[in-house]
Amino acid sequence: MTKYVYRFGGGVSDGGQGDKNLLGGKGANLDGMASIGLPVPPGFTITTEMCTRYYDDGEVFPESLREEVANGIAHIEGVTGKKFGDVADPLLVSVRSGARVSMPGMMDTVLNLGLNDETVTGLVAASGDARFAWDSYRRFIQMYSDVVLELDHGSFEEALEIAKEDKGFTLDTELSAEDLQALVSTYKKLVEEQWGKPFPQDVNDQLWGAVGAVFGSWQSERAKVYRRLNDIPGGWGTAVNVQAMVFGNMGDTSATGVAFTRDPATGERAYYGEFLINAQGEDVVAGIRTPQYLTRQARERAGAKPASMEEAMPETYVELARVFDLLETHYRDMQDIEFTVERGKLWMLQTRSGKRTAKAALKIAVDMANEGLITEAEAVARVDAAALDQLLHPTLDPKAPRDVLTKGLPASPGAASGQVVFDADTAERLAEMGEAVILVRVETSPEDIHGMHAAKGILTARGGMTSHAAVVARGMGRPCVSGAGSLAIDSKAKTMRIGSREVKEGDIITIDGASGEVMFGSVATVQPELAGDFGTLMVWADKVRRLKVRTNAETPADCRTAREFGAEGIGLCRTEHMFFDAARITAVRQMILADSEKGRRAALDKLLPEQRKDFAEIFEVMAGLPVTIRLLDPPLHEFLPHQESEFAEVAQAAGVSVDELKRRANELHEFNPMLGHRGCRLGVTYPEIYEMQARAIFEAACDIAEKSGAAPIPEVMVPLVATKRELELMKDVIDTTAKAVFAEKGRTIDYLVGTMIELPRAALKAGEIAEVGAFFSFGTNDLTQTTLGVSRDDAGRFLTTYVDKGIFPRDPFVSIDVEGVGQLIELAAERGRATRPDIKLGICGEHGGDPASIAFCEQTGLDYVSASPYRVPIARLAAAQAALKAR
Ligand code: ADP
Ligand code: MG
Ligand code: MG
Repeated sequence: MTKYVYRFGGGVSDGGQGDKNLLGGKGANLDGMASIGLPVPPGFTITTEMCTRYYDDGEVFPESLREEVANGIAHIEGVTGKKFGDVADPLLVSVRSGARVSMPGMMDTVLNLGLNDETVTGLVAASGDARFAWDSYRRFIQMYSDVVLELDHGSFEEALEIAKEDKGFTLDTELSAEDLQALVSTYKKLVEEQWGKPFPQDVNDQLWGAVGAVFGSWQSERAKVYRRLNDIPGGWGTAVNVQAMVFGNMGDTSATGVAFTRDPATGERAYYGEFLINAQGEDVVAGIRTPQYLTRQARERAGAKPASMEEAMPETYVELARVFDLLETHYRDMQDIEFTVERGKLWMLQTRSGKRTAKAALKIAVDMANEGLITEAEAVARVDAAALDQLLHPTLDPKAPRDVLTKGLPASPGAASGQVVFDADTAERLAEMGEAVILVRVETSPEDIHGMHAAKGILTARGGMTSHAAVVARGMGRPCVSGAGSLAIDSKAKTMRIGSREVKEGDIITIDGASGEVMFGSVATVQPELAGDFGTLMVWADKVRRLKVRTNAETPADCRTAREFGAEGIGLCRTEHMFFDAARITAVRQMILADSEKGRRAALDKLLPEQRKDFAEIFEVMAGLPVTIRLLDPPLHEFLPHQESEFAEVAQAAGVSVDELKRRANELHEFNPMLGHRGCRLGVTYPEIYEMQARAIFEAACDIAEKSGAAPIPEVMVPLVATKRELELMKDVIDTTAKAVFAEKGRTIDYLVGTMIELPRAALKAGEIAEVGAFFSFGTNDLTQTTLGVSRDDAGRFLTTYVDKGIFPRDPFVSIDVEGVGQLIELAAERGRATRPDIKLGICGEHGGDPASIAFCEQTGLDYVSASPYRVPIARLAAAQAALKAR
């Protein structure tokens, strides 16, 4: 019989530790913490397998589960010495969800379960604290009504507000035992009115109701949205944790808190967190009262008054700090922790690897390796390559003028500018139209997730550094400023006031998630810093990396950026943009519109010195490194004149009439240019074009070698080859030109001639093509278009639907279609190598900067990937991670 219940705590373990798939992250780590001797209230976990079975069986529980759960309750009773439902000294439990991976705020928790009209009096007697007992009961009814009975939680909150207002109170903690007892009566009336039945008094009914609700929450809308955004399979299910309650709401020696073992925003090695005295559960993150800092240093830095935990509860703080260190050593990662202090005694309620910003991930990985906690290779494996993007992008220019409206908490770093919007739906709608928006909310809740995702940044008026907005924004890599208390938001009128100033929906603001500043208008940005931890991690990555990383660049400025980012050559230097240059376009047009070789050559002669200059500049930056130059590729009509004045200019330069030119331009019209007269088809029909380009390349290379002594290594690449014969013809033009140039210059340069593989036929015939070409560069943009028969420019209309329906796991233009396009690449690599064992293989499509595609390139044994300059570091890290995986 399958075991569905695993016990933990009180010296008992059913061995759940470590199995997150079965017990969920929370359950596995509760058992883990208890097993290393930390103070964990006893409890048991109902497995994720049960959740899956519950849904398979039509949302019913098997009979055997009742017995297992009863045993689990008996375990808790044994350890605590209290009985579930006992009128004299009742055991109370929490019922908590917990999936394999943390889904913060996505699932619902019920606290203080086991209270009813009778046991509450027992709790009064046993605790000697009537206020605490009634506070617990009213919390229980409120949570149970919301999560399990699904009643209108607004009406309960309203009743609480009225109770406070009646007495002139502002804080929950000011309510007396009598006030809370009266509130319980009001709550029970609300339940009867809305549910049609009295609040459940049987503690076992309460328990099963709550267990069912946790399983039910797995299929809630907000959980589904979160899973979709984070690629979490619906089949995983959630576990349910039932655990003895400990109480942070037992007066001023009690508290509840959340903490990170290091700063999750910066990665700094400093305990980081917040706590609330005399509070329970989610009070800290719900923004009900302003939480206090954990450490004195953090309090002082923030200039806050209320005592930190270090100051208010020094002994418990020291114990907590010891626990932080134990947990980091045990789990070998930064931990995100939930704890409660009951009358001075510390209890651990949760630990997990903490979500962090890219910046913090980098610093923590490097620090931990330096501390000897993890290896350099582990540090490399831990930083999400794609998230490096956040660090490689600009931050606010400190010197730019700022019109600061207000300051909140620096909840998630990075800078963002955009139009102010006040609700998630508008954020999503405008973002879909390509607008940059900043989502402004009093505080966020899980219902806002889609809007947070769509926004460039998030600003809230309430909530601390561990509020929902802060945690979710950090996870998503969105800049966030939280708790900007001076914002008066009127979401109905769609305005916010800051003092005497008003900001309306649609106005542009800038938020700086690193300083907490909120500014009117948009603010200039500066380039990121690449030394320090970033440099260190890159060095470690390079030690394990096998794939070389090149860049796609065609201007000296881009080449320089790419070299700073560590590019080891150019994998794709396109030559067409050079043709568009304003100073040359007339000569280019003259060349295209010429109707004889003589006319073309006359124009090409004008272009040659210009091209030579382009290449010389690039070769100078890339001295000693390979530079792959793709000969002219796009259909000629892309360069044609559009306006009368342009025609006139070309006509004059070429010495022909405008009418004659227009006739020629018409002839060049194509029905399907992507499959038309382009690539090597240009070189085959007009060899003099490629001849001019080859000459420019070799002359520039000789000149640079002469000048600097370090020759570049040109790799001349012929595009859109389908047959061996095409490449043969083109190679002949290139080699003949090289020979001529070398004779004129009196020196030779090493170079290669190769081809792009971007047509399925070329992949299939790679064995023959490799007889001529010394390298293959997979042009995966076109190879994807030609293999799928999908034009990238027109795919937008249906690709999202294709991904939603699971036809493609991801957009094949973003991440390689491994099964289809990938198979062609494997086949071409294999056939190419069979002919020419030392053939150089690389990839130069957009995919060269995508970590999943890079992993595929590693598996296929390519020699290099080539990515746009800003993605070079991502590619280096991803290549290192792929190499580590392959070990
Ligand atoms: P989430 O997954 O949303 O963080 P949890 O199950 O961790 O939900 O519960 C939220 C909070 O409820 C915890 O941080 C803790 O403060 C409180 N809580 C949960 N279980 C207990 C318990 N057994 N005793 C006291 N507080 C608890
Ligand atoms: Mg919760
Ligand atoms: Mg939690």
